Amino acid sequence: MSGTAERLDAFMARANAAYYANRDPFADFTTAPEITQVFGELLGAWAAVTWQAMGAPDPVVLAEAGPGRGTLMADALRAIRQTAPGFAAALRLHLVETSPGLRTVQAAKLPGAAWHGRIEDLPPGPLLLLANEFLDALPIRQFVRHGTGWAERFVADGVFTEAPGGQPRWPGLTWPSTDAAAAASPLADGDIVEVGEAAHAIAATLAARIARDGGAALFIDYGPEHSAPGDSLQAIMGGKPCDPLANPGSADLTAHVDFAALARAARAAGAAVQGPVPQGVFLARLGLFQRSGALGRSNPARAAGLMHAAQRLAEPDRMGRLFKALAICHPDLPILPGFAA
Ligand code: SAH
Repeated sequence: MSGTAERLDAFMARANAAYYANRDPFADFTTAPEITQVFGELLGAWAAVTWQAMGAPDPVVLAEAGPGRGTLMADALRAIRQTAPGFAAALRLHLVETSPGLRTVQAAKLPGAAWHGRIEDLPPGPLLLLANEFLDALPIRQFVRHGTGWAERFVADGVFTEAPGGQPRWPGLTWPSTDAAAAASPLADGDIVEVGEAAHAIAATLAARIARDGGAALFIDYGPEHSAPGDSLQAIMGGKPCDPLANPGSADLTAHVDFAALARAARAAGAAVQGPVPQGVFLARLGLFQRSGALGRSNPARAAGLMHAAQRLAEPDRMGRLFKALAICHPDLPILPGFAA
């Protein structure tokens, strides 16, 4: 390890802060709300039903983490105003976004919003939070199995180095563990495990405040249902995969979200968890195809495009299975839309 080595999570945090501050991420990748307006509309309806289940608190914080171009929330608010005027009147819009450029884009679409740099800074009280492809951008640590010990991955001069020692820790779990999924895949020499400490901290923070003040947080992102070893760090630049270490600040760095670890972190902090449910199943239950079909009938020129977009989000071998929905919610809430079998 050379003197300039940087731990992977610090490298990833620095690279992504620069990337989101200075680049247009949507030149490199597209996301569900940019694929079809129905995605945001369904999440708006989800929030409206959940707000009713919370006892219709007024006021209520409606928040989004990592709102990108503001498309998801603009579509959600349109659906909320049309179908749930009581919720529309009660909600206070708060956005969690670090990028100054994206804040400007969001402000044009979402007048009246308030911005925060961190989820911890959201005002107290009953909360509904939406987040699509937010957690995957958060920094991870990577540990490499060597014999019965570990080394941790650092970055120096654009390549990985390893520092012996360290110990991966997940909330409520150490590796190797009795967790059935982890036990089913025993570690071999050289295996890599990832720990998303930043995501776990956010889950714990949200869980504690939701257990205290009420509400729910809906995360949609990609990753496996069960924790498993593997290197999921990836980079996209100019729409193409590239070396994650070679272009800090010019490429979008992401990692798979460990939904099992996220759920454990939330439960340990006092909240209940629903899901994860595959995105295709979740959106179909919320009415993805019915809504896309209805929109197409009133606008025949768009009918085929809307149906293709719905299929792209829902089909298992496209975005339907790798993407998943998970809700962190108050223990008194019933099963929320999309999560009931
Ligand atoms: N949810 C949007 C955008 C996804 S891209 C969509 O689905 O289209 C990731 C978003 O998270 C961007 O808005 C980015 O600026 C923001 N972001 C990334 N890291 C962040 C952090 N640490 N804190 C707050 N926002 C962050």
